[in-house]
Amino acid sequence: MDMFSSKPPAWADTAVHAMSLQCPQCRTPSIEAEAVWLNRRSPVYDNDRQRKWQEFYKCGCGCHWWAWSSDRPPNEYRDREPVNPINPPMPDWPRFFDRPQDG
Ligand SMILES: [Zn+2]
Repeated sequence: MDMFSSKPPAWADTAVHAMSLQCPQCRTPSIEAEAVWLNRRSPVYDNDRQRKWQEFYKCGCGCHWWAWSSDRPPNEYRDREPVNPINPPMPDWPRFFDRPQDG
């Protein structure tokens, strides 16, 4: 099954809204679900202008549920600054990034 398909799977029709990213019936985390489908057709904008969408999960216990993508716990990459090649963070930053223009 294609989780990015635009067509909802049949089981999504009976999904119940879970308050966190785990099965409301057996507490199985979303990553262990048998199938997942993201409803990317209708993203919703939060108060803080963050885009969120529905994530549907088909649990092995027979329960179908969904949660907002914004309910996902913050991941470890969120706070990390992207590497800026213009301002190398270390003096020994590879020369590759500040190579003078050819020509
Ligand atoms: Zn379950």
